[in-house]
Amino acid sequence: MAGEPQADCLFCKIVAGSVPATVVRETETTVAFRDINPQAPTHVLVIPKLHYPDAASLAAAEPAVVADILREAGRIAADEKIDDHGYRVVFNTGAGAGQTVFHAHLHVLGGRGLQWPPG
Ligand code: 5GP
Ligand code: ZN
Repeated sequence: MAGEPQADCLFCKIVAGSVPATVVRETETTVAFRDINPQAPTHVLVIPKLHYPDAASLAAAEPAVVADILREAGRIAADEKIDDHGYRVVFNTGAGAGQTVFHAHLHVLGGRGLQWPPG
């Protein structure tokens, strides 16, 4: 069924607690944890508890959860005090754009100057 946990998915395992992560926030629909290879002083991933491979498929099936993820990003930015200098939220989509984990996740990056375009 759409959204069901996938046995071979790393982020489903983090949701289930069978792979450890440094969780910073959790809601009924989302988990947020620190990226294992941070690209900025704050680098948190916000994921849906449901398994969808990317942001667009999540949005098509569960649009309210996309809103939950974005709301959580704002709360994390406030908690980490990165909102006053600006921060970035990114859904890499597809291998060509750098997506390596095919369970939708929002990167929340801040705490340093961020260039645009990112390259
Ligand atoms: P993507 O490249 O798919 O947009 O982002 C995947 C992110 O997951 C990367 O930034 C990578 O560092 C992070 N990541 C990969 N494996 C793990 C892990 O086991 N734990 C945590 N916390 N992050 C991970
Ligand atoms: Zn998954």
